[in-house]
Amino acid sequence: LEDYFVDLHVHVGQTEDGTTVKMAASKNLTLENIALECLERKGINIVGIVDALSPKVLEDLEKLIANGELYELSGGGLCYRDKLTILLGCELEIVEANGGSAHLLVYFPYKKIINKFANKIKPFVKNINYSTQRCKLNAQKLWEIANSCGAILIPAHIFTPHKGLYGKCTDSLEKVFSTKALNTIIAVELGLSADTELADRVAELANFSFLSNSDAHSLAKIGREYNIMRLEKADFKEVILALKNEQGRKIIANFGLNPKLGRYHRTFCRNCGYFLNKIYNYKIYNLDICPKCKSNRIVKGVFDRIIEISNNRQPHHPDFRPPYLYQIPLEFIPKVGKQTLNKLITAFGSEMKVLHLASYEEIAQVVGEKIARNIDLARKGRMELKPGGGGKYGKLII
Ligand SMILES: [Zn+2]
Ligand SMILES: [Zn+2]
Repeated sequence: LEDYFVDLHVHVGQTEDGTTVKMAASKNLTLENIALECLERKGINIVGIVDALSPKVLEDLEKLIANGELYELSGGGLCYRDKLTILLGCELEIVEANGGSAHLLVYFPYKKIINKFANKIKPFVKNINYSTQRCKLNAQKLWEIANSCGAILIPAHIFTPHKGLYGKCTDSLEKVFSTKALNTIIAVELGLSADTELADRVAELANFSFLSNSDAHSLAKIGREYNIMRLEKADFKEVILALKNEQGRKIIANFGLNPKLGRYHRTFCRNCGYFLNKIYNYKIYNLDICPKCKSNRIVKGVFDRIIEISNNRQPHHPDFRPPYLYQIPLEFIPKVGKQTLNKLITAFGSEMKVLHLASYEEIAQVVGEKIARNIDLARKGRMELKPGGGGKYGKLII
């Protein structure tokens, strides 16, 4: 078995012919650029493309297949230039009866399953060409469709205030999924503002594997969170085995942002700007309204939401839970601009190598001591962090 770098949540911004797929995503986030970024800059071995429901994206895929750069693997997924595995998936927005909406990811082992799924989902979405379509289904109904097609459903960024299942939809997965559904759901995605320490305070999550994915809307952000999986080879079946923790396949580590850097870590009031940045005093706040101005325009932070729905004040990790290791992407590090970033990647081969393998001295030789020191302090977790909230990323403070 070997270890693979896996990021299963990357969006397509636009197709090769210039058709927009995701409005808020970068234009150079095309299928081929994603593949090259993973191969040449990030060192990602398995990437999940979550806009594969769009027929235009599938067209690009077919072109790569026709010119021999891409082929389907017998164990599911596709292989690009014999080096990178691409898993196909989609992100859809469901709506629960209480009006809360959330994003769910669906992954397809084979292309033909996408067609099957697309036909069943079309009556419920407005425009299948676009990313993350809202569908007139609840989570359970979407699971039923995915499951009937042989696709795998994974709830995305589960704690985020607007579009995570725990954000506005529910305080327990048991309330939105049937027992049968929950028995087939093998993983949940944590999202940037949460980590294992926080998520394992919610007792029902002990049954699931945790994915730390980038949810990249630009090339630079691919791999800002990822998983290391121990697999026999890089294909769909093996990834599923790892998520099930079977036959020695497993996630051996989650790499992610310190959750404080995430955009929704703490609670923020959009009315008065109040930012809850204290150690949480258990249940003294009613965070549905602003403690300061009493407005309900509050964006509840992931941290505060987890405290609210948690069963345990301390995390209770199941035995199989891998370590969650913090990684601060280079773009967060003070004084590291685009040029510096490119210099570093050219010198070391990929961002992962700069973050995890290059020594202080080696980095200093390329970009000077000042920046090298910042990178080193950030890598060692020795920089102070100002938490994010209300849609703003957290910051490193020198
Ligand atoms: Zn999403
Ligand atoms: Zn307020």
